[in-house]
Order: sequence, then structure tokens, then C-alpha cells
Amino acid sequence: MPIYEYSCRHCEKSFEELVLSTAEVVACPQCASSDVKRELSVFSSPAPGGEKTTSGGGCGCTPSTCGCH
Ligand SMILES: [Zn+2]
Repeated sequence: MPIYEYSCRHCEKSFEELVLSTAEVVACPQCASSDVKRELSVFSSPAPGGEKTTSGGGCGCTPSTCGCH
């Protein structure tokens, strides 16, 4: 079940909401505003098309000098 993290544009509160349908209207639990922004899912899964097509050396550094390898 997808749990999304939202932030309220009205009061800037961040909250998590279990969303069963993308058409579902999510309201801020603090100010009840529906003017919320969906953040990245807490349980992040690989984004479609987000697979790395380049491997190794893509960041222009060496394994011994950076933490991305
Ligand atoms: Zn709010």
C-alpha cells in the first residue's frame, strides 16, 4: 500500500497519508487545507525509467576518492 508524504502549502506541515487512489483528495490534518503537495514516497521504489544507463565513471571520479562507488 502506498504511503505518501505530503507537505501543506498552507501551514507547511508535513504528514504522511495512506493513499488508496491517486484521485483521492488529501487534506492537511492540521489546518484541513487540501492545498497540499505530495513529496516522494516514504517507501521509495525505483522510478520508472530511472535506471542507470551508464555504469562506472559516470560521475567523473575514481572509486578511491568518492563515496558514490
Ligand atoms: Zn496545513
